[in-house]
Amino acid sequence: MHLHSLLAHAGVRPSASPARGLSPSIDPSTTFERATDGAFPGGHVYSRMSNPTRDNLEEAAARLELPAAAEAALCSSFSSGMAAVHAVIQAAASLNGKPAHLVLPDDCYHGVPSQLIGALSSGAEPVTWELADMTRAGEVEGKLRGADPGRNTLLWLETPSNPLCKVSPIAELAELARSVSPEIGVVVDGTWAPPTLSRPLEMGADLVLHSATKYYGGHSDVLCGLVVSHPTSPLGVSYGAQVRAVQASIGAVPSPFDCFLVLRGLRTMGVRVERACESAMELAAFLDAHPKVARCHYPGLASHPGHAAARAQMGGEHFGGMLSFEVAGGGAAAVAVAARCELITRATSLGGTETLIEHRASIEPEGRVTSPPGLLRVSVGLEDVGDLRADLERALEGA
Ligand SMILES: *Cc1c(COP(=O)(O)O)cnc(C)c1O
Repeated sequence: MHLHSLLAHAGVRPSASPARGLSPSIDPSTTFERATDGAFPGGHVYSRMSNPTRDNLEEAAARLELPAAAEAALCSSFSSGMAAVHAVIQAAASLNGKPAHLVLPDDCYHGVPSQLIGALSSGAEPVTWELADMTRAGEVEGKLRGADPGRNTLLWLETPSNPLCKVSPIAELAELARSVSPEIGVVVDGTWAPPTLSRPLEMGADLVLHSATKYYGGHSDVLCGLVVSHPTSPLGVSYGAQVRAVQASIGAVPSPFDCFLVLRGLRTMGVRVERACESAMELAAFLDAHPKVARCHYPGLASHPGHAAARAQMGGEHFGGMLSFEVAGGGAAAVAVAARCELITRATSLGGTETLIEHRASIEPEGRVTSPPGLLRVSVGLEDVGDLRADLERALEGA
């Protein structure tokens, strides 16, 4: 079945509700009754371990990330994307009694290195990490070959990347990692390319993670993270189980109410993402040709260095709802352009119904600013594309 058809019914199980309601039910219980013989006939013990509403979300996400083997794929959901990131790193740092080593993209979501610089890089067996340009296979191979075999090494991909929209070829890099060592885990942060565009588990990844705060939820009103593991890759199975163990013991789980909101968001994800991609393509072409724009970064542009890779792994027609552009004139000019936007809202985050614009250099942590000073990042929402274009045109006029 097409993913859009699955999405339209995501989480809907009338037979699970006595009244046969068409909306997923919310079960707020933290604890569940035992039978006289001590068994748990409802299948749940305590909600840090599992909860019916959370199960519903996790099953729906597994179905989207790996439609061919959804029953077997294990999904664990978290109270935020960063909690999901933490669980994956913690799993790598506690599997087989070995410490962890991460090879991260050089323009990784800034929260990941922040976590590593903070809690995870101190202690008896600190997590070690290094950065690589994931568009250069030779550089990635060198880092993987140089990794200490006494550590659990994870190749961490994020594509398209934040904020330069660099495209990492998932299948090629997963194969490369396998050829270096079958013990290297491949994890993809798929937040910018939700499963209607890209399904990394079908391309050789062991784990895919999402900040479901973004496209999965889609309405800027719920924080949530998801990790889905491959059911037959040996590392997918072991990492998936370890992520699940971290979830149950640390307890950074989403509430049943949050799970309901993400499930509701999912039902429109197909059309939301499609619309965002179409508008983003049109806006990118407009920005790319604008005299006040020095560079536009969008994988849908034929001139983008990742265009062919994006076409191969994002379904061929769509290239995501995120783009960034550099205002000629630098940082002050870019901040002024954002300030002149009226319809487009100045705010961080992405994947909501409303179009957002953000001056990245001023939000990145001090000492680790990687964005060019004139760069503005745009999360394209669901407004009329003509209105969005007119807003950008007016904002750029004064630049
Ligand atoms: C937002 C985001 C995260 C973090 O997710 P939260 O839900 O904000 O904790 C991780 N990775 C990427 C690519 C993101 O955009």
